[in-house]
Amino acid sequence: MRTLILSDIHSNLTALEAVLEQTPGKYDQVICLGDIVGYGPDPNEVIDRMQALAPVATIRGNHDKACCGISNAEDFNPAARAAAAWTREQLRPENLAYLRQLDVGPLRVGDFQIVHGSVRDEDEYVFTLREAEENLKLAELPLTFCGHTHFQGGFVWHPDGRLEVLRVRTAAGVATAARVLDKGPKYLINPGSIGQPRDGDPRAAYAFYDDEKQRVDYWRVPYDVKATQQRMRAVDLPEPLIARLTIGR
Ligand code: ZN
Repeated sequence: MRTLILSDIHSNLTALEAVLEQTPGKYDQVICLGDIVGYGPDPNEVIDRMQALAPVATIRGNHDKACCGISNAEDFNPAARAAAAWTREQLRPENLAYLRQLDVGPLRVGDFQIVHGSVRDEDEYVFTLREAEENLKLAELPLTFCGHTHFQGGFVWHPDGRLEVLRVRTAAGVATAARVLDKGPKYLINPGSIGQPRDGDPRAAYAFYDDEKQRVDYWRVPYDVKATQQRMRAVDLPEPLIARLTIGR
């Protein structure tokens, strides 16, 4: 079974389409790790596209919650809060309802589980070794996929207690990097963000997982960043959110 893993799409239809154009016939099922909306200019279009894609599992992210009113955006910075308020105004009633009914992670899918932030808290950012170790200790399955940080990569907790950081730094012309999973370690794998990468690479990020080969393939795909930025400007979304797409930070 080959799984296409999508995360942190953030209302960026151009980036999502670039990923989906590259993937036909390459997977058996789709999963989504949350933050379908927020930040970007295409909330309804992205939800429509995701519903057409019919993932076997989709969990909510903190922006999905804020944009549909499950949470207030109090802990968001001003730009994120403004974008969440704009998104909420744009969403058609059925799309608001769609966001409200999304599952809460952790959610088990076959031999792995999915979370938005971390195993213990859907809103926790896993950046440090300590955060990764504490969560991998709690993980009941060897493989967890997470989003939220918008950093492609992850962490490996080896049976001898050693913690390894998975850094995926594919160079500009290189589109993919693979990791074969061993029996024994526990893995926390982040496919990266489609709609707003923050790891210094502006290309849309996603991943595949093949459970027979026990292999994760990380991918990057360029998309028309300027087209997304033009639509953001046209609806007066905050300039810092527009600018960061150029550099992927
Ligand atoms: Zn996000």
